[in-house]
Amino acid sequence: MKSNITQEELEKYIAEQGAVLVGGCELKASPITGQENLKYAFSFAVKLSDSILKTIDNGPSFSYFQHYRAANSLLDTIAFKLSQRLEQCGYNAYPIAASQSLGKNNPYRGVVAHKTVAVNCGLGYVGKSGLFLTKDYGSKVRLATVLTDMPLINEKGVIENACGNCDLCVKACPSGAIFGTLPTTDGERNYDPEKCSKYMKEHFQDVGRGSVCGVCIKVCPKNKLL
Ligand code: SF4
Ligand code: SF4
Repeated sequence: MKSNITQEELEKYIAEQGAVLVGGCELKASPITGQENLKYAFSFAVKLSDSILKTIDNGPSFSYFQHYRAANSLLDTIAFKLSQRLEQCGYNAYPIAASQSLGKNNPYRGVVAHKTVAVNCGLGYVGKSGLFLTKDYGSKVRLATVLTDMPLINEKGVIENACGNCDLCVKACPSGAIFGTLPTTDGERNYDPEKCSKYMKEHFQDVGRGSVCGVCIKVCPKNKLL
């Protein structure tokens, strides 16, 4: 039997676990084959440390790499706990890891694009860098998603891209991965994840796998470091 828990109560719960931004929305369709009921999503973000981001200097630092992984771990924990909470309330829930790939044949895509869901939930917009940008924290955030059959709505509206004429990330990207275009509404990428990843592997193998160089975060004027 379903409990009468509300979207607002669950968003409060997500925030209490450490998320700085949270929202819900209805998707066009469930991304999970055979589970068409999972057409609603919670999106949430945790904030990266300003002090750690200051250590990025033409490439990732060890502290940034470890912090990036810690942020993913926190997001995965929140997604796990939220999913359990939803199930206890009688709803289906499908947590999607912060960093996910669909294997060798599709290494740069997960079950859903967290950024697309976060845009639909009204948390921010995708910048020319391909990074997710928010009003209060710029791109100093990482995202995760939980799909569910609990009816959810976007109560915040959608935030328009505010990059304007800026092209600082395009000029600064050492791998030439950023096209300099605005994202399209169909979720097509405006940067080349393969180039970005190759650059990391070629130049910063010693720092660790599963991170990015971070220069596009460092140069973005939407990120005012404290
Ligand atoms: S992480 Fe580095 S290589 Fe990748 S898009 Fe950003 S600036 Fe370019
Ligand atoms: S650096 Fe400029 S163009 Fe790139 S994402 Fe930030 S605001 Fe947009």
